[in-house]
Amino acid sequence: MSLYDIDQIKQRNPIEEIIGRYGIVLLRSGTRLTGRCPFHKDENPSLVVYPETRSFYCFGCGASGDVIDFVRRFDGLGFRAALERLTGGTSQDSVTREERLPNRDQAPKEPRSLSLDDRMILTAASAVYSDVLLRTPAALAYLGGRGIGEMIIRRCHLGYSDGHSLSQYLQRRRLSLRRAREMGLLWRDGGEKMAGRIVVPEMRGDQCVWMVGRPLDNAHDPKYRGLSLPKPLLGYERVRGRQRVFVTEGTFDYLTGVGWSLSICALQGIKVQAQRLAFLERARRVFLVFDNDERGRDAVVFLTGLLGDRARVVELPQGVKDLNELGQLPDGRATFFELVRLSESRQPEEVRHAVPAR
Ligand SMILES: [Zn+2]
Repeated sequence: MSLYDIDQIKQRNPIEEIIGRYGIVLLRSGTRLTGRCPFHKDENPSLVVYPETRSFYCFGCGASGDVIDFVRRFDGLGFRAALERLTGGTSQDSVTREERLPNRDQAPKEPRSLSLDDRMILTAASAVYSDVLLRTPAALAYLGGRGIGEMIIRRCHLGYSDGHSLSQYLQRRRLSLRRAREMGLLWRDGGEKMAGRIVVPEMRGDQCVWMVGRPLDNAHDPKYRGLSLPKPLLGYERVRGRQRVFVTEGTFDYLTGVGWSLSICALQGIKVQAQRLAFLERARRVFLVFDNDERGRDAVVFLTGLLGDRARVVELPQGVKDLNELGQLPDGRATFFELVRLSESRQPEEVRHAVPAR
């Protein structure tokens, strides 16, 4: 099989056209199109297609990607088979049975609660990574560059994986390497999946229940690697039961907010599901601090729809990408609290009308 020119394939197969070919009706709304998502039971159209960036995103189930991802998922194909389908028209013949993958994504994911042993493994891993971070100047420098100082490192139990300290430690503590592999901490050969990454754990009390890793440079894929466990809300304990809650998008936005002592949580992306917002029941005010881009604004529109007049939208200044970037500006903190004050006096309705459909 010769190499494919992925960019060319994407160019020649406009995502909105291909999705349309699968029988999904897409309606234009500004620069994007919306329709019913084929990957979950979609009562309201929550699939958004972005022709400009050749990508799609579902606000209902979080399905996302480019045209190749869409074909893979819809037809249950491997990467190469999906490319063949796109380059060979819609011919089914170009795809052999063997290349069909079981379509696991469509089965409802059963969030499994963690056993005590699992928590011990994760907590041990988090402790190892915390230790390693403190003696890894490059990792500390990276955090410093993003405005994440010592106080946040301690508050959030941040860590760093050097790639080789974990399995020995688990063995010494007689914790199961097999479970560590299953949960996504280790590769088959014992290497660490978080190797070379800043690790942000999600804690429940003293116990770690999840973690996400971010490499020190942008050369590594994926940019964020989580465990093979259901992705929780990052910062759940900081917002549970609180009356004034900040909701943001990304891991580092969350860290910035913790540095400012906010009751803040991160959706870790913009996946927004109504049932996941139950934790906001008690909140009288929910400040939405999302990225300054089209997707962030779409998520805000979607969330204000769910939260009603409890929602307030904190709009970041022009040219500032996200909360973390704002935090890196010399007057970022003061600017932020001023923006929060401004948002309080604005009904979400006004924002909703001001934001969409360019
Ligand atoms: Zn969906």
